Amino acid sequence: MQRLQDRVAVITGAGSGIGLATARRFAHEGAKVVAVDLDEVTGAKVAEEVGGLYVKADVADENDVTRMYQTVFDAYGRIDIAFNNAGISPPEDDSILETGIEAWRRVQEVNLTSVYLCCKHVIPYMRRQGKGSIINTASFVAVLGSATSQISYTASKGGVLAMSRELGVQFAREGIRVNALCPGPVDTPLLRELFAKDPERAQRRLVHVPLGRFARAEEIAAAVAFLASDDASFITASEFLVDGGISGA
Ligand code: NAD
Repeated sequence: MQRLQDRVAVITGAGSGIGLATARRFAHEGAKVVAVDLDEVTGAKVAEEVGGLYVKADVADENDVTRMYQTVFDAYGRIDIAFNNAGISPPEDDSILETGIEAWRRVQEVNLTSVYLCCKHVIPYMRRQGKGSIINTASFVAVLGSATSQISYTASKGGVLAMSRELGVQFAREGIRVNALCPGPVDTPLLRELFAKDPERAQRRLVHVPLGRFARAEEIAAAVAFLASDDASFITASEFLVDGGISGA
């Protein structure tokens, strides 16, 4: 019997990076994977690879989110795991003095409002089952702030962390665990895009990682699989740091 055998797991941002690695890991551990992504090409590809279902959705759009969960419920009759992971990188100059209100709003919508919507609309399903595991992707910057000036991004992830704690406490007695995943820098297209704009930033980041390298997406996926599983049955409302030691340094 595998650890996630027949668990129905919805992964947002499954087409790339951490979401993609987690889709593979979940499938390997026996889960029925629902790959959600705005990008139809990558989303459908990963769903096919892991023998799961692809649902196209913009997670910042409430109609898309409700339709997404309804589709999953119609297909499988339950939802056990929600990995709310889709997100975008900060705008080019994300210092508080430079970031415009539209760029700020867009980051809050995709990184924070999406998590609010995904939690709001999955909790009723999990409540009826009396069980569920929600993992929301925040970031180490939610805990520590960032030395590289990314105010809209850091604020959005701080919101994800606070919301996860609140929901973890609120729904603990109903069997729903809610945790905030706080990765350090991970070698994914999102990070590569950020560093392509500002190569020095990569170096500045790297010196803060005691393990001396960026994470592989598979290393983050291993932590997500643990949080999703019953092995983490006493872990809720946590900030789960997978950061190569940054927070300890
Ligand atoms: P990525 O860019 O490789 O993948 C993100 C995926 O989300 C893409 O497939 C994209 O199409 C999808 N997506 C974006 N907006 C969407 C929307 N509105 N609706 C549906 N799908 C959407 O990024 P990643 O590095 O794997 O990041 C995943 C999460 O991890 C993000 O929330 C990110 O902020 C967070 N994070 C990343 C790092 C890192 O260093 N890479 C560190 C900490 C936290």
